[in-house]
Amino acid sequence: MNYVDAHCHLNVDELPTDIAVAITNATHPADWSRVAHHDGRGGVYGAVGVHPWRVANLPDDWAEKMRELLLSNPNLMIGEIGLDKNHPDMGTQVDVFITQLQMAATLGRVAHIHCVGAWDRLLDALRATVPPAIVLHGTATSPEMIRALLKYNVYFSFGRAICNPAHARAHKALQATPQNRILSESDSDNPMNVVGVVQKMSEILNRPLAEIKNTIYNNAMGLLKNGQIA
Ligand SMILES: [Zn+2]
Repeated sequence: MNYVDAHCHLNVDELPTDIAVAITNATHPADWSRVAHHDGRGGVYGAVGVHPWRVANLPDDWAEKMRELLLSNPNLMIGEIGLDKNHPDMGTQVDVFITQLQMAATLGRVAHIHCVGAWDRLLDALRATVPPAIVLHGTATSPEMIRALLKYNVYFSFGRAICNPAHARAHKALQATPQNRILSESDSDNPMNVVGVVQKMSEILNRPLAEIKNTIYNNAMGLLKNGQIA
């Protein structure tokens, strides 16, 4: 019971009984209708946005449509947005990301961020525009970057990378993250995948499973409160 999936891509409206909260992220305008109706009922929250892999050939009115959806659902968050150096067209990625980050700041919404190898650009963007809270998903960044990001009310979500014993960077990131900032995620269509992730987190942090699970649940409640989500 009471597991949290802070970053997923669900295809169903109902959660397994073991999952208390799930935040399902969209990746592209064609995907928004899948998540836009989620307002927290049944523990499912939604986030609309344009993923950095999906910035090519966006409809001209994408930002306007996204803003309308956000205004019509006060509990809707913004995601999955971000920057990824392994994908083309960093110029467009930055433009699309900043437009969405500004929307998060002006509408007061939590932003769910994907960042691969573009940390300086992310920090530059955050120096100019700060949303009420951020979930950094798939955390595997350096302890120095975690410290730099803590200034911007960031929660750090950990997923399957920490289940890989060879992924030392992800393990170090988890150990470097303050306990009141950790979240768990499946980054999949099956929130039950967080059970193995949280188990692994308890092993790496050398703390009882029930305690880590409670910490993550309380952090998720704090995140929703920061985002003024009812
Ligand atoms: Zn994702």
